[in-house]
Amino acid sequence: MPSRFALAVLAGMGLAAGAVRSGFKPKPVPVPQLGPDAFPLPEADPPDDMDVIAVPTGVNHRNALYAYRGGSYFDRRDFYIGAALVKHPQGDLLLDIGFGRGIDQQFSTMPKLFQKMTKYSVWRPAVDQLAAAGYDMSRLDAILLTHAHWDHMSGLPDFPGVRVMVSRRDLESYLNPHMHGRFGPPFSETHFEWDPFDFDGGPYLGFPRSLDVYGDGSIVCVPSPGHTPGSIVIFVTTAAGLKYAFVGDLVWQREGLIRREERPLASQMWADFDANGTRTNIIKMAQVVAAIPELVVVPAHDQNAFADLGRLPHVKTDGITLQNPVDLAKLP
Ligand SMILES: [Zn+2]
Ligand SMILES: [Zn+2]
Repeated sequence: MPSRFALAVLAGMGLAAGAVRSGFKPKPVPVPQLGPDAFPLPEADPPDDMDVIAVPTGVNHRNALYAYRGGSYFDRRDFYIGAALVKHPQGDLLLDIGFGRGIDQQFSTMPKLFQKMTKYSVWRPAVDQLAAAGYDMSRLDAILLTHAHWDHMSGLPDFPGVRVMVSRRDLESYLNPHMHGRFGPPFSETHFEWDPFDFDGGPYLGFPRSLDVYGDGSIVCVPSPGHTPGSIVIFVTTAAGLKYAFVGDLVWQREGLIRREERPLASQMWADFDANGTRTNIIKMAQVVAAIPELVVVPAHDQNAFADLGRLPHVKTDGITLQNPVDLAKLP
């Protein structure tokens, strides 16, 4: 007959296993029902000749189990790692930058456990793709980060002299050695052309404050703290109306907002600075999505989302091929 102690250990193990399992189960975040007029569309006067273009630099090999609650281990999700180029007459912006030429060296400085858990493939750094496409670098006004994590900023050293817009809170946490957490110290390069910003504009689509980058309502950032202290969402409005929401790592795949499924508990503990903050902002974004069904939500690591964007011309597809539907083989 097993001793009381053994029974207690078994019961404890059972409880722990149950807790781990339940952390992966679907559990949609409840969202208050709002009427269709809950968010009047913000005023905007965007120029006619804007364009939004995907610049994939590689992938991080993951699966849906890791990405959102209710996802399957067998549902392979190669996370998009890259940028979006927003063309604007006042100056183009790159939203995030993805893998750069130095990624392998940068990655080798990260914590060993993180290295063990992470397998990535580099396709081509953004700077080389832009050059191959014949892009005029003098048009690039800034790189605008959704947040200061390695996979969103690795390519910064490839763009010397280009200003890097980042929320002041995220820059502070990036430069603070006590805030590096599980991702380890920042890359050895810390002296970029930082252009930290605050949100000096009023409420926007239910978010408390905003920053209107060019003053025409075409590119508007709002604070979305949680994944990192200074994470943001970037709304892009073209002449056709409000079109895109670049939500960074608020969710990793669209299911995070469509099904309102948070990251599984284990991923949350691993990746989120403040899971409650992330949940609050998932609720806000889910309300925006419900109110504006035509909005294209672009989580930073969802290939399906980037498939809805334009493409760079003349970029050859040597190197890796991203899994569908970002089908680089069909690039001109
Ligand atoms: Zn991140
Ligand atoms: Zn990320």
